Amino acid sequence: MRKKLLAANWKMYKTPDDCRAFVRDFLPLIANPGRDEIVLCPPYVDLHATLEAVKGSGLCVGAQNLHWEKEGAFTGEVSRVMLVALGVTHVIIGHSERRQYFAETDDTVNRKLESALEAGLAPIVCVGEVLEEREAGLTDDVLRRQCTRAFSGISAKKAEKLVVAYEPVWAIGTGKTATPQIAASAHLVIREEAVEAFGAEFADKLRILYGGSVKPDNVKSLMAEPEIDGGLVGGASLDPKSWSAIVNY
Ligand code: PEP
Repeated sequence: MRKKLLAANWKMYKTPDDCRAFVRDFLPLIANPGRDEIVLCPPYVDLHATLEAVKGSGLCVGAQNLHWEKEGAFTGEVSRVMLVALGVTHVIIGHSERRQYFAETDDTVNRKLESALEAGLAPIVCVGEVLEEREAGLTDDVLRRQCTRAFSGISAKKAEKLVVAYEPVWAIGTGKTATPQIAASAHLVIREEAVEAFGAEFADKLRILYGGSVKPDNVKSLMAEPEIDGGLVGGASLDPKSWSAIVNY
């Protein structure tokens, strides 16, 4: 049995005070603390406040990005060393918004993945097709390419904490959700790529999350699909009530 992971991606929303208030309101609403791994991913400037607020609760805090170098002349960037020093345990890598608006490529995703694993962070690597690719029947090819390149040169031993999120780009922030069947078939492709890269035993344990308009009213059917090991949630994670309705699926 793979422990489910539910991650909130707060994108470029919330100030430190907003994060503190969110945690205060959200904690009493969790029905089964400890059942699943719950991760809050606020903007960098909110990490400290969020880490302080979740202390002792069992919640984890993740970043939304990192640079692949340990340090250097990279204005505006943040490294694994800085994240670990703060107490951050997870990091989202290669989100489609980073690929779309900030020119991230399969190669930078690979470098960031290596960097995160090097530091002992649990990376949540995002993969997924855009609508045109799905309509052209290219979904499996796109997932295979993204996974092969992301995993390139990384050993199973090093990849132990790896988590993958299948995020069809046409479902992110659009209110369109993949059916559990669509997600499951994509997850199987990703799992096959994990077998290729890391072996069957590793792939069997690998958690593959679904992301794309997960909401309180669709989370139950998604989480009931055995191939779906959790969710990466944007919009519906911003409010403590709707996020608690999701984690209490
Ligand atoms: C995301 O940001 O990863 C995401 C899935 O967003 P939303 O839940 O809003 O579609």
